[in-house]
Amino acid sequence: MPVERKHCQCHDTQNHFLERAFESLQLETSQRELLLSAFRETTVSIPLRPHRADDDGGELCTYMGYRVQHNHARGPFKGGLRFHPSVNLGEIRALAQLMTWKTALVDVPFGGAKGGITVDTTKLSQYALEILTKRFVQKMMPVFGVHTDIPAPDVGTNPQVMAWILEEYSKNHGYTPAIVTGKPMELGGSAGRLEATGHGVAYLTGKIAGEISLPIKSASVVVQGFGNVGFHTAQRLDAMGARVIALSDARNGVICDAGINIERAQRHVAETGWLENLPGTEPISNAELLELPCDILIPAAIEATITCDNAGAIRARLVVEAANIPVTHLADTALRERGITVMPDLLANAGGVLASYYEWVQNLQEFPWERDTVLQRLEQRLSRVYAQVRDLAHQRNTDLRTAAYELAIGRVNQAMALRGF
Ligand code: NAD
Repeated sequence: MPVERKHCQCHDTQNHFLERAFESLQLETSQRELLLSAFRETTVSIPLRPHRADDDGGELCTYMGYRVQHNHARGPFKGGLRFHPSVNLGEIRALAQLMTWKTALVDVPFGGAKGGITVDTTKLSQYALEILTKRFVQKMMPVFGVHTDIPAPDVGTNPQVMAWILEEYSKNHGYTPAIVTGKPMELGGSAGRLEATGHGVAYLTGKIAGEISLPIKSASVVVQGFGNVGFHTAQRLDAMGARVIALSDARNGVICDAGINIERAQRHVAETGWLENLPGTEPISNAELLELPCDILIPAAIEATITCDNAGAIRARLVVEAANIPVTHLADTALRERGITVMPDLLANAGGVLASYYEWVQNLQEFPWERDTVLQRLEQRLSRVYAQVRDLAHQRNTDLRTAAYELAIGRVNQAMALRGF
């Protein structure tokens, strides 16, 4: 799909979802404009000679980097960094805004931001990636800060990238683990953070499945995307007794009706880079995978993979948005009209930002928590937020997404009014 079209879908989708909630909350136009506008958008260019091990000689490339700080009424800006070829300002804008609603929904004292670099990391050496990351941080130094803006991992970034961010920032400010979340444990990362997003997705999937008479123990599950979120979601659902019948990555998918061994799939990806040729499975395309008959479909890759083009062919009973904005607004309407329950992204994958908040708190306290403490607190909070969203949806006779947006927007609006924005 052309980048431009996808970026428009992402933005349009976000706006449509917001409009539904704005209408319901009867917000004035001036309030809507303020809620929609970003506090600050920073664009940087990063020159690098990526094809030489020593960054000396070779072709000079200029990479574009972004940080959109959407809203900080409820606390410092918070949001991931994405390294992907499709990254552009429009996409980052929509994702930054989503973070504002997500942090408000789970009621952590953060605002919303997102950033990234337009880069295909599979074409860079580890050394080039390290230099690119550190130059990005140098240029973003004026906007990052422990109490102003705290980045985290997203598509194409991982604990190693967070460690480079910590190192570069600490050169100017002294050792500062709280500047970034999702770091390795050795550098102040939190126990449970790596698996937190997938853990939360699986936990909430179990909760909602129980409420729509879909026993998780015998449920068939399809997961699109087998990175941090997809892998940990599949692993946890497998442990809960579900049968994960298909998985995919950016290249292709694999299917096995009897259920895929998730640990073996992860080892295969670690060894070969891709799911392709996973023993005991058959190949399947990403498009075919989304249309498989199954109980639960979990898009856990990138945005806009379920659109009006394929929504009519989705054969799951429940769609859980582990990825951010994976379902466009037209597809969302089509799925609802067909009676398919959709758990929205700002609720489904909020375990990630919750665990990031716990990591930040531990860094500020300089006192690490046990993994069980982190995951128990995460489950308790997600359970409470889910109940709030579900009850509001029932009360207002609306869908989970609109109820989640209403709760979140209400909180941000109130904070802005109190602070006199
Ligand atoms: P990741 O980079 O670890 O994994 C992404 C996976 O998606 C990989 O398997 C990749 O091959 C696959 N992929 C990429 N492009 C694809 C395409 N066009 N079609 C199919 N598969 C494709 O990223 P992640 O951290 O697992 O993030 C996945 C999603 O979850 C993103 O939408 C991200 O914003 C969201 N999310 C992540 C976190 C987190 O803690 N990492 C938290 C909340 C939300």
